[in-house]
Amino acid sequence: MKSRTSGQAIKSARVRRRFVDRKAATLRSSELRFRRLFETSQDGILILDGATHKILEANPYISQLFGRHDLVGKSLSELGILADALPFLQALEKLQPGECIRFENSWQFPGKPGVAELEFVCNSYDEKGRWLIQCNIRDIAQRRHAERKLRDALQQLAMVKRGLEARVLERTADLQQRNAELEAFSYSLSHDLRAPIRAIVSFTQLALEEYGKTVGPPATEFLQKAVASAQRLDRLILDVLAFSKATRQPLTTEDVNLDEMLRDILQERPECAPPKAEIKLEEPLSSVHGDRASMTQCLTNLLDNAVKFVPLGQTAKVRVYTRPSGERLRLYVQDNGIGIPESAQPRIFDLFQRAHNGYEGHGIGLAIVRRAAERMGGRVGLSSIPGQGSTFWIELPKARSGQ
Ligand code: ADP
Repeated sequence: MKSRTSGQAIKSARVRRRFVDRKAATLRSSELRFRRLFETSQDGILILDGATHKILEANPYISQLFGRHDLVGKSLSELGILADALPFLQALEKLQPGECIRFENSWQFPGKPGVAELEFVCNSYDEKGRWLIQCNIRDIAQRRHAERKLRDALQQLAMVKRGLEARVLERTADLQQRNAELEAFSYSLSHDLRAPIRAIVSFTQLALEEYGKTVGPPATEFLQKAVASAQRLDRLILDVLAFSKATRQPLTTEDVNLDEMLRDILQERPECAPPKAEIKLEEPLSSVHGDRASMTQCLTNLLDNAVKFVPLGQTAKVRVYTRPSGERLRLYVQDNGIGIPESAQPRIFDLFQRAHNGYEGHGIGLAIVRRAAERMGGRVGLSSIPGQGSTFWIELPKARSGQ
């Protein structure tokens, strides 16, 4: 009869064995999973000895890729499968346990055209005191091919871009030349038109003086209308010439004292004085850097408009002031006039744009202001409320002297 103690010992030995068996079975199935992973992987996997760099294991994919089944036991340099093995082997030498390196290399398939492009990702680890290196090797030929195509496409794109830029430059130069020719043509045409118009005015006035009394009305009224029309035409031509000048004349930029310039302009313009207008220059009017003749033209046009576009019989009250605007200076001309309808405001600086009937003009003054300001490196703008007034501004570089 077995003793009670030996029965217990047998029982616990069985429990231990069951436990060990279960552990071994779990280990086997885990090993099986990893082995399947190793064998079916579509990346090549090599396990190298960390000290000798000899291949300990190679998965089927890498054998198939290299077309060799004798990899185990050899080193990569022995196999001669890398185009330039030295840097790779040097990197492996330096690889410390726990580290990882990435490396690209190419390999010539024996007997086949073309070169395989391979990416190696190697990490080293310690397995029970033995230093191992695992290399995952991927064929990146397709990726490289796509990269090369992308590079080629980008190069082609850059070439097309350069070609287009050259064409744009060529066409711009061509357009600029044609534009200059047209401007020169319109300038000389306008200029030449003035002489016959002045002759028409003079001869009609002479006819009025000599024969006015004889012929009497309505013939004299017709002749007076002819003089007025010819004079209007002459003013239009003068405006066109001024526009042409604002476009073509060479600029000489310097610091311009706006206060002095505005006082000079006002002195010469009786229409800007009471009772017709009250103009207040708000001090200090800082200086700008621009072309003196262009500035005079711009300020004259803005002041003329400010005193012109007021309801009949009303005194124009105009305020002129400057404010800094970043690196530039803005000069404002604010009036209490009839204002400009909102719909007309966006195009009011375009050539021949007019927003009101019943006031003299040809819609050229503001186009001159904009063109001149832009040529001096500036810009223009406005805000206006119909029936209450307008504020036009012109923005130019500040005076260099810092006044
Ligand atoms: P012009 O005065 O010869 O008509 P401009 O180019 O100077 O030409 O002005 C274009 C139009 O802009 C004017 O016809 C007028 O309708 C409008 N305008 C310009 N300045 C003012 C202003 N200060 N107040 C109201 N309307 C203005």
